[in-house]
Amino acid sequence: MAGLLSQRARFFGATGEHFSVHEYDGIQVIDALDERQLRCIRALLQGYLDRTRKKHDPRALELLAEKLAPGAKEMPQYPVGYMVHFVLVKAFQAFDPLVEEGHGFEKPALELAMVHHLLSILDKYVHTREKPVMRHFSDVVREHSVVLRLKCACGAEKFEVKLQALYQSPQGEPFDRLDLECRDCRAKRSITFDLPHFKDMYQI
Ligand SMILES: [Zn+2]
Repeated sequence: MAGLLSQRARFFGATGEHFSVHEYDGIQVIDALDERQLRCIRALLQGYLDRTRKKHDPRALELLAEKLAPGAKEMPQYPVGYMVHFVLVKAFQAFDPLVEEGHGFEKPALELAMVHHLLSILDKYVHTREKPVMRHFSDVVREHSVVLRLKCACGAEKFEVKLQALYQSPQGEPFDRLDLECRDCRAKRSITFDLPHFKDMYQI
């Protein structure tokens, strides 16, 4: 599992060979790959539990939820993939010391509880992405997270959103336009985001 998570460094690097990971296109590619990876990890863990059908100890899970919580609490309401990835990596880092301390549990019991713990984090994220309204809002959050990661030609990573407006393409597809200004050199640029889930909001 930890090895799987570290794959992110590889696809991040591979993306960097074709796109700048500080640029709009690169960030979009990374976000799409992050989401795919998280869904794969979730399927893997769920498959493992379905196959083994082992009963986990609720007290062990409680312990993990408590001890590995700092990372999970940092998760915003509408998380973007890399934030979830960060929470998972944090949980792994905290897991080994926890096993050493034991807290009255054997390692296998803690490992099984860990699978459930990780699944609950992933479920929360995937669940968010599957509800139409949540999906739309998480796309809006994604816009802001893209802005945070964009780098200006002057080297600063400090774009400020001057204006956010909703537009419609000639084909009737809604999109957002963000007018940005660098806080250092005052360079201006605009980026647009497709809002494929905008219409979902009215389907309920
Ligand atoms: Zn600048």
